[in-house]
Amino acid sequence: MSHYETSLDAVFSRIEAVRALTNEHQIIKLVAVSKSVEPHHVEAMYRAGQRAFGENKVQELSRKNVALSTLPIEWHFIGRLQKNKINQLIDLNPFLVHSCDSLALAMELDKRLHVKEKTLPVLLQVNSAKEESKAGVLPEMAVETYLAIQETCPNLQLRGLMSIGAHTEDTTIIQDSFETTYRLYESLHKHGAKVCSMGMSNDFELAVRCGSNMLRLGGVLFS
Ligand SMILES: *Cc1c(COP(=O)(O)O)cnc(C)c1O
Repeated sequence: MSHYETSLDAVFSRIEAVRALTNEHQIIKLVAVSKSVEPHHVEAMYRAGQRAFGENKVQELSRKNVALSTLPIEWHFIGRLQKNKINQLIDLNPFLVHSCDSLALAMELDKRLHVKEKTLPVLLQVNSAKEESKAGVLPEMAVETYLAIQETCPNLQLRGLMSIGAHTEDTTIIQDSFETTYRLYESLHKHGAKVCSMGMSNDFELAVRCGSNMLRLGGVLFS
C-alpha cells in the first residue's frame, strides 16, 4: 500500500467506527483538503482512490486545477470568497462551494452566474459557534437566510449547510456547535437540504456522531 492508501484507510476506519454506532445508513463523503500540499501530493492521493479535494483560496484552486487538469478531480471551494474573485471561481466550475456566508454574497454570485448563464451548487455557511473570527450567518438567521437565497437566487443550487466547529479544546462546546448546525440542517430537509458539511482533522469523529455527512480533512490525511 502507498503512504496515502494507508492514511485514507486509517481515516475511513475511524469514520466507520463512529458511523456504525451512530447511523448505519448514513453515507459520509470525504473531501480531502489539499490547501497545504503541492499538486503532486494531490495526484498521489488521487491515485490512492480519493476523488474530492478542497481548497480555500481561488488562486490555489486555479493553480492546482491547471496542474492536474488531466485528472477528473471533483474540486470543492471551502474558503472565504472575495467579491473580486467570484468570476474566476465560477469559471473553474467547482463541484460545490461550501462557503456562501451571507445573502449579499449569494446575490452577487447569482448575478454573475446569470450573466454567464450558469448555475452553481453551494452550501450556506453557518457560524454556529458564534465566533467573531468566523464567517457565516448566525444560527438564528440561518433558516430565514436559506429560504431567502432559494427565493431570490435562481442560479444558485442550495444543497445544505457548512459549519466549522468551535475553536476550543472543550469538547462540549464543539459538540454544541455541531448540534446547532445539525438541528438547522434537519429543519431545512423539507426545503431540499442534503449536505451537512462539518468536521475537520481535530473533530471529525464528533462531527459524525452529531450527524455530519461531509467531512473536510486536511492534516490527518496529508501529514
Ligand atoms: C483547512 C480547512 C479544513 C481542513 O482542516 P484540517 O484541520 O487540516 O483538517 C477544513 N475546512 C476549512 C474551511 C478549512 O479552511
